[in-house]
Amino acid sequence: MAVPKRKVSRSRRDKRSANKGLCPNPVGACSNCAAPTLPHYVCQSCGYFRGEKVLRSKTDRMQERQTVRQAAAERKSNGAPAGQENAAAE
Ligand SMILES: [Zn+2]
Repeated sequence: MAVPKRKVSRSRRDKRSANKGLCPNPVGACSNCAAPTLPHYVCQSCGYFRGEKVLRSKTDRMQERQTVRQAAAERKSNGAPAGQENAAAE
Protein backbone atom coordinates (compact mmCIF):
# COMPACT_ATOMS: atom_id res chain seq x y z
CA MET A 1 0.00 0.00 0.00
CA ALA A 2 1.28 3.43 -0.90
CA VAL A 3 2.07 5.50 2.14
CA PRO A 4 2.67 9.28 2.19
CA LYS A 5 6.34 10.04 2.80
CA ARG A 6 5.69 13.17 4.84
CA LYS A 7 2.89 14.67 6.84
CA VAL A 8 0.87 17.19 4.82
CA SER A 9 1.18 20.45 6.71
CA ARG A 10 -1.90 22.32 7.86
CA SER A 11 -1.13 25.12 5.41
CA ARG A 12 -0.77 22.77 2.43
CA ARG A 13 -3.90 20.80 3.36
CA ASP A 14 -5.98 23.97 3.81
CA LYS A 15 -4.74 25.42 0.50
CA ARG A 16 -6.01 22.29 -1.25
CA SER A 17 -9.36 22.46 0.59
CA ALA A 18 -9.82 26.11 -0.36
CA ASN A 19 -10.81 25.10 -3.91
CA LYS A 20 -13.48 22.61 -2.79
CA GLY A 21 -16.11 25.19 -1.93
CA LEU A 22 -19.80 25.13 -2.85
CA CYS A 23 -20.91 26.78 -6.05
CA PRO A 24 -24.36 28.30 -6.53
CA ASN A 25 -26.99 26.44 -8.57
CA PRO A 26 -27.63 27.89 -12.02
CA VAL A 27 -30.98 29.63 -11.76
CA GLY A 28 -33.00 30.55 -14.82
CA ALA A 29 -36.29 32.39 -15.26
CA CYS A 30 -39.65 30.84 -16.17
CA SER A 31 -40.65 31.62 -19.76
CA ASN A 32 -44.28 32.02 -18.68
CA CYS A 33 -44.18 33.97 -15.40
CA ALA A 34 -40.47 34.92 -15.09
CA ALA A 35 -40.19 33.35 -11.63
CA PRO A 36 -36.74 31.92 -10.79
CA THR A 37 -36.60 28.19 -11.64
CA LEU A 38 -33.98 25.46 -11.76
CA PRO A 39 -33.04 24.20 -15.24
CA HIS A 40 -34.94 21.06 -16.37
CA TYR A 41 -37.55 21.60 -13.63
CA VAL A 42 -41.25 22.51 -13.86
CA CYS A 43 -41.96 26.04 -12.67
CA GLN A 44 -43.34 25.74 -9.15
CA SER A 45 -45.31 28.98 -9.26
CA CYS A 46 -47.25 28.54 -12.53
CA GLY A 47 -46.77 24.85 -13.49
CA TYR A 48 -45.33 25.49 -16.95
CA PHE A 49 -42.44 23.52 -18.49
CA ARG A 50 -40.99 24.57 -21.88
CA GLY A 51 -44.05 26.66 -22.67
CA GLU A 52 -46.58 23.94 -21.80
CA LYS A 53 -48.88 23.66 -18.81
CA VAL A 54 -47.97 20.37 -17.12
CA LEU A 55 -48.95 20.93 -13.46
CA ARG A 56 -51.94 22.48 -11.76
CA SER A 57 -50.70 25.28 -9.53
CA LYS A 58 -52.12 26.27 -6.15
CA THR A 59 -53.98 29.24 -7.63
CA ASP A 60 -55.55 26.96 -10.30
CA ARG A 61 -56.86 24.62 -7.60
CA MET A 62 -58.19 27.57 -5.58
CA GLN A 63 -60.05 28.92 -8.64
CA GLU A 64 -61.54 25.48 -9.37
CA ARG A 65 -62.76 25.16 -5.78
CA GLN A 66 -64.22 28.65 -5.94
CA THR A 67 -66.24 27.87 -9.10
CA VAL A 68 -67.54 24.65 -7.52
CA ARG A 69 -68.56 26.56 -4.38
CA GLN A 70 -70.25 29.30 -6.40
CA ALA A 71 -72.21 26.71 -8.40
CA ALA A 72 -73.29 25.02 -5.16
CA ALA A 73 -74.35 28.35 -3.67
CA GLU A 74 -76.37 29.19 -6.79
CA ARG A 75 -78.12 25.83 -6.69
CA LYS A 76 -78.87 26.35 -3.01
CA SER A 77 -80.31 29.82 -3.64
CA ASN A 78 -82.44 28.45 -6.51
CA GLY A 79 -84.27 26.22 -4.03
CA ALA A 80 -82.69 22.83 -4.66
CA PRO A 81 -83.08 20.46 -1.71
CA ALA A 82 -80.04 20.11 0.59
CA GLY A 83 -77.72 17.14 0.08
CA GLN A 84 -77.79 17.13 -3.71
CA GLU A 85 -74.85 19.56 -4.18
CA ASN A 86 -72.20 16.89 -3.64
CA ALA A 87 -73.90 14.44 -6.01
CA ALA A 88 -74.07 17.08 -8.75
CA ALA A 89 -70.49 18.27 -8.24
CA GLU A 90 -68.93 14.80 -8.58
ZN1 LIG B 1 -43.73 30.08 -14.17
